[in-house]
Amino acid sequence: MLCKNFLYPMLLRYFEEISAIPRGSGHEEGMVAYLSRFAKERNLSFYTDEFKNVLIRLPASEGYECAPSILLQGHTDMVCEKNRGVEHNFLTDPLKLCVEDGWLRAKGTTLGADDGVAVAAMLALLDGASEAHPELECLFTSCEEAGMEGAVGFDYSLIHSRMMVNMDGCDDGVILAGCAGGLRSHINLPVEEEASEEPCVEIRVGGLAGGHSGEDIHRGRINAVKLLGEILAHLLVLYKDLRLISFWGGDKDNAIPREAEAKICLADRDGVKRILSELEKKLHENLVPEDEGLFLAVTDAPSVESVMDRASTERVIFLAAKIPNGVFAMNEDLKDQVSTSRNLGGMFADITGAKAIFLSRSDYDENIDYSAGELEFYASVLRGSCHHSYRFLGWNYAKESEIRSRYGEAYRAVTGNEARVETIHAGLECGHIKHAIPDMDVISVGPTVLNLHSPEETLNLDSFARFFEILLETLKYH
Ligand SMILES: [Zn+2]
Repeated sequence: MLCKNFLYPMLLRYFEEISAIPRGSGHEEGMVAYLSRFAKERNLSFYTDEFKNVLIRLPASEGYECAPSILLQGHTDMVCEKNRGVEHNFLTDPLKLCVEDGWLRAKGTTLGADDGVAVAAMLALLDGASEAHPELECLFTSCEEAGMEGAVGFDYSLIHSRMMVNMDGCDDGVILAGCAGGLRSHINLPVEEEASEEPCVEIRVGGLAGGHSGEDIHRGRINAVKLLGEILAHLLVLYKDLRLISFWGGDKDNAIPREAEAKICLADRDGVKRILSELEKKLHENLVPEDEGLFLAVTDAPSVESVMDRASTERVIFLAAKIPNGVFAMNEDLKDQVSTSRNLGGMFADITGAKAIFLSRSDYDENIDYSAGELEFYASVLRGSCHHSYRFLGWNYAKESEIRSRYGEAYRAVTGNEARVETIHAGLECGHIKHAIPDMDVISVGPTVLNLHSPEETLNLDSFARFFEILLETLKYH
């Protein structure tokens, strides 16, 4: 096990080094500087662009000069999520890494194994970890988590490889061979205010697992914004004097909201407390295990002078509660694979207006178009507006793939098992790269990372070492 004894510390060292560099989406300057310095120090040719992408080339090892080159690719940015109450500035602070039972995590924040594992693996390769490999083109893209701006903007005429390994996968037993497309949509509603003298309460929903809005959408986890919306819709039926003051929950289209809170005013505060304590018990009878921390908290809040009027209150609560959400269709050919879904990822409302953000995903372009039309319809009914800020492209499964069979063989050689070939219900940069270079042969792989995009994100260290060994094997074929 050469890998574990010798190369594994190298992988971890690079992972640690990049964990000290702030690299939230849109803030990858530190990574560009680090990677440029890394390439210069090793005399490797490199290229950077205005999107903060970095391409570094590693010449073929001896005997591999004629072997077809391979593009390796991963993103430098990470999702910045922390639990409430955790002191961490993602613009300045290094992550605080710790190891528990063979799993790496960051204290109170996302770990950035998505996609720091790709960055660390490419750095180890560029630093000489592989003795037998063709020319490698290592592409470090930016801003994947906030619109894939790097992968969309990159100049692919620079790439001459026609085989590609994207390393944004999160299950070491899986070779991804396709991904879904998606669309981010925004609904804005105007609201009318009125004066109020009623007492106020604040309702908080928390303790939920959340997760990735594509990969975790079918796991039955509760969306905190939807739940709070449904609670308010229920109270709205019982209390004619209920008025909404503010609503907050989630903030990213690609994460299932874990927390939400609303301020309302109405006369019967004790009634609300009673109803919610009963509801909390009832909800606990039917939760998936990850959501067992669910709580509903009701506290008295100071009175305010202005609240939303009843009609606005109703429209805003409808927006949170009633627009279809979650899984709409499963894949007909591949078992347990979601085909079409929608996630209400965030909502914010006060007496100046309301806004909500959605992410629709599907293997089929026409289902994304339909979802867009449906959201426009709801916005219009609610007397608001809807616009779509960005769309990412899918990558369809190919029956034949040279790089897939190479990686499959390497997987067998290292583990003695067969890798599963799957597609994913999430956007990958592969979709854009495949559109830019249609004859590119693509796979997406990676070590086992759990709870992506949440502060519980964790990387299995054995899997990380094994993944790297499989990668080294894959590069050896020619
Ligand atoms: Zn990623």
